[in-house]
Amino acid sequence: MSPKAPITQDVMTIPRKLPEGKVNLVGLTRDQLRDVLIEHGTPEKQAKMRTGQIWQWIYQWGVRDFGEMTNLAKAYRAQLAENFLIEIPEVVTRQVSEDGTRKYLCRIAGGHEVEVVYIPEEDRGTLCISSQVGCTLTCSFCHTGTQKLVRNLTAAEIVGQVMMARDDLEEWPTPGAPKDETRLLSNIVLMGMGEPLYNFENVRDAMKIAMDPEGISLSRRRITLSTSGVVPEIERTAKEIGCLLAISFHATTDETRDVLVPINKRWNIEELLQALASYPNASNSERITFEYVMLDGVNDSDEDAHRLIEHIKRHKIPAKINLIPFNEWPGAPYKRSSNNRIRAFANIIYQAGYASPIRKTRGEDIMAACGQLKSATERARKSRKQIEAEAGLNR
Ligand code: SAH
Ligand code: SF4
Repeated sequence: MSPKAPITQDVMTIPRKLPEGKVNLVGLTRDQLRDVLIEHGTPEKQAKMRTGQIWQWIYQWGVRDFGEMTNLAKAYRAQLAENFLIEIPEVVTRQVSEDGTRKYLCRIAGGHEVEVVYIPEEDRGTLCISSQVGCTLTCSFCHTGTQKLVRNLTAAEIVGQVMMARDDLEEWPTPGAPKDETRLLSNIVLMGMGEPLYNFENVRDAMKIAMDPEGISLSRRRITLSTSGVVPEIERTAKEIGCLLAISFHATTDETRDVLVPINKRWNIEELLQALASYPNASNSERITFEYVMLDGVNDSDEDAHRLIEHIKRHKIPAKINLIPFNEWPGAPYKRSSNNRIRAFANIIYQAGYASPIRKTRGEDIMAACGQLKSATERARKSRKQIEAEAGLNR
């Protein structure tokens, strides 16, 4: 493998055909849906219209049973039920935090589990979804990074997390009822388990479905993808998904970032900044979020704050900086910076003319906060060497 090749090849995704021989329709693009309908007997001439109808039942009304698709002939509904399924991840447990944050543990094919977090706020409701079971990367402050990568999620499993949350929030509209514009689930962040840009196609297809105006219909500006810095996929994210971008920046020198975010050994700070500077969608109204976890004595000095600003200014990146108080987890090798330190750091950034919100920690009592996600059944810790060897990070 060349030293700069993306690290996707060792990751499997399960086939779409389910054991009982039925095809799951969730997660298929419109074209794929049309193709499977034709493959299973829908006349070509009708296929486009049937695709639209079935799409709306699944994504606009949240229907899971072909019998309820009342604008289709009974015999056709039976034919669909024989060949297809509408299947999303199954909720195993649901925990509700004191602050209203909900954490779901969802089971997906193969018996694996992923965590999904819903964060209600006054003016929005954000769903934090996962893209992989575990992660190939080994960021030293992240709980997910201690869990070995099991597999990529399918597009069905990714958009299925959104559908699952809409089920739980009882947010599917009822046909004929007046349209309610205030959404409980108004935003999606790809900030759960995994590195979304190492599962690019599935993430893209799932987010396209979430944005489709004849379905879940979330605006692309309400979807934020967070990456640790998979440089070659950044431009594609703007072009093929079009969502907002957040970068797990976390350090201002390569020396420190190599330790905190080891993918930095492959694409360093300068290469990352160059990719961000040319992010096609970035503008003052669509700024790139720099995520910066505050670790006591590691990356939280005044010099770090000045260097961070200098990096962003040098590359003229429209940016806001999101300071994240470190969320501790059992065995974590770091401590959270003091509130005074975080405020002083934020102030330097603010004085330099950048927004520097401090992320409110949510759902900590149920281990639902950033970087605390790790499914209880997958506690195996791979050795750092093993992970780095697989990821091609050791030169
Ligand atoms: N893999 C992607 C998305 C998931 S992590 C990424 O790394 O960007 C989502 C965010 O939570 C990232 O900014 C990550 O760096 C941050 N994070 C991870 N562990 C954390 C912890 N223990 N405390 C606070 N933030 C953490
Ligand atoms: Fe993976 Fe993101 Fe955690 Fe790093 S911070 S180990 S990329 S999930």
